[in-house]
Amino acid sequence: MRQVIFAEILLLRLGLMTPIGMFYLLMIHRGVTARWREGMMACLPACLVVVAMAISGQIFRITTSPVDMFDPFSFDLILLAGNIVIALRFKYALAASVAGLLVMAGYVLSSSTLGVDAQLFSLVLATATAVFTLVANLRFEVTDRRAYLFLLREQLRADAMREDNLTLTHISQTDPLTQLANRRRFEQVFEATWREAGTAGDEVGLLMIDIDHFKAYNDAFGHPMGDVCLQRVAAIIGKQVRKIDLVARLGGEEFVVLLPETDLPTAQRVAERVRAAIEGLAIPHATSGDQSCITVSIGAAVARSVGELASADLMRQADEALYTAKRGGRNRCHVAAA
Ligand code: GH3
Ligand code: MG
Ligand code: MG
Repeated sequence: MRQVIFAEILLLRLGLMTPIGMFYLLMIHRGVTARWREGMMACLPACLVVVAMAISGQIFRITTSPVDMFDPFSFDLILLAGNIVIALRFKYALAASVAGLLVMAGYVLSSSTLGVDAQLFSLVLATATAVFTLVANLRFEVTDRRAYLFLLREQLRADAMREDNLTLTHISQTDPLTQLANRRRFEQVFEATWREAGTAGDEVGLLMIDIDHFKAYNDAFGHPMGDVCLQRVAAIIGKQVRKIDLVARLGGEEFVVLLPETDLPTAQRVAERVRAAIEGLAIPHATSGDQSCITVSIGAAVARSVGELASADLMRQADEALYTAKRGGRNRCHVAAA
């Protein structure tokens, strides 16, 4: 539409405007630091708006055809682009709009081709465009910020909830006195282990551990000392087993050790190791039968998860073995017949 000054326009638009825009895009593509993003990278597009206004003014000045009296209206498009399309941050949009309007006023008021009415009309229209687009810009910014804060709050809530859930799960599966797994957790893991062993054809071992004459210990030393004793026994059991084994407190002074992939001789060895370790604690207990310290009786059982045999059957075998150990005089291990 402006063949006469095509070369000049090409120079202004491609030679000046485009390199600044390309530099901006390049910086964004490379990724910039927060300080750059907040400062320079927000200023640059605002400067771009002012430069675009100046370039349009320059083109407006050097054109000669009669239709060019409509040129001042192209300034409105630049305000639209800066405030709505690029959506500069409000403070930069405001500064760029004011600076752009002043640049435009300079060109329009010094024009010899525009009448006073046309000058005034183009300026009023550009000012109104600036005001409307700035209001829209501010509303975008407030909405964006609210949405961001809302998202942030939801994320924080979700994080807190996840944390609460983890805590609750831990509480629901842990014995508060000994920090061992509780009965609920044991039953879950036992079921799962039994099922997996069934698939793999593995053997599963179980140790039932019961402190001997513990009622008498409580009677002699009091409940708080009884609690400390339970904690010490729990801790030492945990040290005698592998990571894949599960030690749990079934309740009272009864513990259980789940031994995945374990044969009978191994289960017997582990049981004896646990018994000896507890005796080795040498917790004084004057009223424990023949013994002068805390001891345990252990029932061990091993089974292969095949056919009709259920996890409860293994549990019963270990329990019966425990009572055999008790009847046999306590402070001993008894292994259920395979
Ligand atoms: P046995 O050798 O036959 O196992 O005798 P025992 O006295 O250990 O068995 P009994 O079942 O008669 O007593 C278990 C005792 O364990 C009774 C109860 O006071 C005590 N006990 C159960 N839970 C706790 C606890 O959380 N803390 C304390 N301190 N004692 C507990
Ligand atoms: Mg008991
Ligand atoms: Mg007991």
